[in-house]
Amino acid sequence: MYREFLDIRRENPGYRNGRSSDFDEVEIRLPEESIRKQASRCMGCGIAFCHGFGCPLSNGIQEFNKAVKEDRLRDAYLVLSQTSPFPEFTSRVCPALCEASCCAGLASDPVSIRQIEYAIIENAFKRGCVEPFIPRYRSGMRVAVIGSGPSGLAAAELLNKMGHEVVVFEKSANPGGLLRYGIPDFKLGKSVIERRLEILRASGVTFECGVEIGSDISAQYLRRKFNALCVCVGTQMPRTLGKDVSGASFGGIHYALDFLSSQIKFNSGEISELQITAKDKNVLIVGGGDTGSDCMGTAFRQGAKSVTQVEIMPEPPECRHSSTPWPMWPYMKRTSSSHLEGGNRLWSVNLKSIEGKSGNVRSATFAHCDWNFDSNGRPSGFTERQNGNFKIEADLILLSMGFVGVKKKGLIEELGIMLTPRSMISAAADFSTNIGGVFAAGDSVSGPSLVVRAIRSGRDMALGVDSYLKKATK
Ligand SMILES: Cc1cc2nc3c(=O)[nH]c(=O)nc-3n(C[C@H](O)[C@H](O)[C@H](O)COP(=O)(O)OP(=O)(O)OC[C@H]3O[C@@H](n4cnc5c(N)ncnc54)[C@H](O)[C@@H]3O)c2cc1C
Repeated sequence: MYREFLDIRRENPGYRNGRSSDFDEVEIRLPEESIRKQASRCMGCGIAFCHGFGCPLSNGIQEFNKAVKEDRLRDAYLVLSQTSPFPEFTSRVCPALCEASCCAGLASDPVSIRQIEYAIIENAFKRGCVEPFIPRYRSGMRVAVIGSGPSGLAAAELLNKMGHEVVVFEKSANPGGLLRYGIPDFKLGKSVIERRLEILRASGVTFECGVEIGSDISAQYLRRKFNALCVCVGTQMPRTLGKDVSGASFGGIHYALDFLSSQIKFNSGEISELQITAKDKNVLIVGGGDTGSDCMGTAFRQGAKSVTQVEIMPEPPECRHSSTPWPMWPYMKRTSSSHLEGGNRLWSVNLKSIEGKSGNVRSATFAHCDWNFDSNGRPSGFTERQNGNFKIEADLILLSMGFVGVKKKGLIEELGIMLTPRSMISAAADFSTNIGGVFAAGDSVSGPSLVVRAIRSGRDMALGVDSYLKKATK
């Protein structure tokens, strides 16, 4: 008999050795016996912060932990699938907000909720428990979902379950959004997406790929043919270099997403040659976030000579910062599997100029920044050090500085959808936009976020659409 977290330590299996020479998923998974022990570390607290505060999907974490501990994996899957339509995605790529708010984490290490989720869903697939859901009654209502990222897929899944006829329109060649064309294969193998798409298709969802709404097909045409439209187009506009940075037009400067998607398309056979390669190059990644770290891992696998990731913000603390106490998501330094593979990380540096030769980039010049901190100890403005400029050699520069809003041209302009001052879609509490029968969800509403939040948003929007359709039929 285990005495939960008092006797059992959290196991962190880490990542595969030799992983940087292939594109297979890097994370090591715990065997079933260890998963049961890890689930038994859950205290079943009176107030489940993991469920009510941490997890955007409000997963029944305590309940599935109990079922796993008692070796009832099928029951655990039934609990998980109540709230989470795609646990196979979140158990691979979610930063596990739930674990940051786990009560066990106050006195010890949090329960390994994400590893447990992975065991539950993979076991369910293995045993054939994940089946298509074909609704018994059809409402006769037609819904067009525009964009097939996690928010669009989550909306499609639920709307179909509710009996509506759902067609998902996607401008890329295949569905998945950033799950497919952003997140590298070494974090999320694309067969995992295919497996879920098969279930969605068998459940009755139709996918029309290679179709950009607002360009290939007009949005007004869709409005005539469908009873409601769900705009799930993500944030497509990458942040560009400031006008004060000279040399931005040299060859060899690319957006991170173009670099990542080229490798993903190459791996799947969608293209026969890499559009951008880091092979034998000194790679400079501008932007210290997750997308930059994905570029790092991809550059290593392509055979880069060196990889440096730079960030204007100061280096975060190694442990949870006092400004984000438990159960909040901690402000702290994050080290991904890619960072552990090598390369350099620099903080508090500001890109000043890019230098080149014969039209191609050769180096970049940076200034050191001295940061000021507010009364909470958080960075609040900087001054550049005088005479502190330095150069980094680079033949390939990847811009990974985030996204600044939805693409206005095309769909958004055609429909006249209202945007917020931050250039995201302005949506009401029920996810409706200013245009009747047009709803929106995911990053296009929230701004760049997480897969788990996009899924929640897609599901919430589906509820809004369903009640709109019910009112329309009265
Ligand atoms: C490189 C990268 C790595 C990431 N890694 C992680 C991670 O590890 N974990 C995590 O939780 N989050 C991660 N994220 C964030 C996460 O991927 C997003 O928050 C999430 O995908 C947003 O989902 P979405 O459905 O709103 O939009 P998207 O996933 O962006 O999907 C939008 C879809 O709409 C399509 N579309 C756009 N306009 C049209 C149109 N007019 N007609 C038809 N189709 C259209 C696009 O082609 C796209 O497929 C990452 C993001 C990036 C960029």
